[in-house]
Amino acid sequence: MSRDKCYMCDKDATSVEHVPPKCLFPELKDSGSNYRINLITVPSCDLHNGKKSTDDEFLMVSIAGILGNNSIGYEHYHGKIQRSLKRSSYKLLKQVFLKGEVLRVTDHNKFMDLLWGTPDHPRLMDCFRHIAYGIHRHHFGENFVGTVKPYLSFIHPTENNPQEFKKFIEHKAKIDLHGQVKHGNNQGVFYYQFTDPDQYGIYLGSLCFYQNVNIYISYLPENFSPPFNFGIELLNGGFETTIILEDKEYKFNQPK
Ligand SMILES: [Zn+2]
Repeated sequence: MSRDKCYMCDKDATSVEHVPPKCLFPELKDSGSNYRINLITVPSCDLHNGKKSTDDEFLMVSIAGILGNNSIGYEHYHGKIQRSLKRSSYKLLKQVFLKGEVLRVTDHNKFMDLLWGTPDHPRLMDCFRHIAYGIHRHHFGENFVGTVKPYLSFIHPTENNPQEFKKFIEHKAKIDLHGQVKHGNNQGVFYYQFTDPDQYGIYLGSLCFYQNVNIYISYLPENFSPPFNFGIELLNGGFETTIILEDKEYKFNQPK
């Protein structure tokens, strides 16, 4: 009998890995509801099991505290996550945010602690790459061979071009994902979607947490050659470029 291979590499699996990590899903004792129904697991080797690192906790602190999340994310953040932050004397926060600080704001006479700062982007990208491979293994029953590129749409860029690009990506993803099935048994916490492959074999995956935090994943198969895109070439070359999508215009490299 052949053993299952790890979702990330060629090694034999020694355990299972939850994708996304289990700690993002509130426990029954904390929330009064069971959000841990049929969580997604994939076979994993020791190296690629997130439980063996602190990445799961890192991810939980990074995304559960984001403004605009639904009440599940909000409660989770104010319960379990605040407890673990206090336990670690906010050291965890320092690890998550490069300039991490807690802002205290008032909302109708209630105090709320909010995370504020620059997230550790490379580490977040790494976490979402693992989830992207895991979700692929779960959904298609085989490992993805190629490169995955996550786009973190919950990060708010301050410069003009990245801001415009973010609006463009969100609009494009909305069009591409329209009508695609949302998969997941606890959709208030997490669901994912896939588009059909385009003519180059590239397809888009979308991960949604707490009905607010969206991550778009480009799945680029091995050996694919990127299509020449005149608009993108102009944009990257620093030329003033307008890309039109439906009835919207996205303007890049605008003169100052
Ligand atoms: Zn592995």
